Amino acid sequence: MGLFLNGMQACIFCRVIEGAVPSYKVWEGESFYAFLDINPVNPGHVLLIPKKHVDFVFDLDDDSYQGLFNAAKRLGPLLKKAMNSKRVGMAIEGFGVPHVHVHLVPVNHRNELNPLRARGASQEELKRVAALLQKTFA
Ligand SMILES: [Zn+2]
Repeated sequence: MGLFLNGMQACIFCRVIEGAVPSYKVWEGESFYAFLDINPVNPGHVLLIPKKHVDFVFDLDDDSYQGLFNAAKRLGPLLKKAMNSKRVGMAIEGFGVPHVHVHLVPVNHRNELNPLRARGASQEELKRVAALLQKTFA
């Protein structure tokens, strides 16, 4: 499916989808998967990814591209409500992991999407938020 290195998936997000690397999954569809960023810029910071390994978002085929944004459209308002934020910001950069990922972030002020704000979250926080969002997105 993705890139292989010595028979192992080289891509960390492909390994997350396979379950080889644990994640705080919050939602899964047929072609897309959503989990918590463990270094959130705000609580409830979700990463939404296609199950198919593609590096650049604009290299997705049309169906995958539309499906990705349809999934973001479904999850975004639910995330806003669950986290009681003013808005949900959406960002795609892709410097960290070369596998398309949409950041969905509950935000209350300008510039909160700034990746330099990322901080490690406690296991308790991640567990609590994941449980809330699993219920919300179900
Ligand atoms: Zn991948």
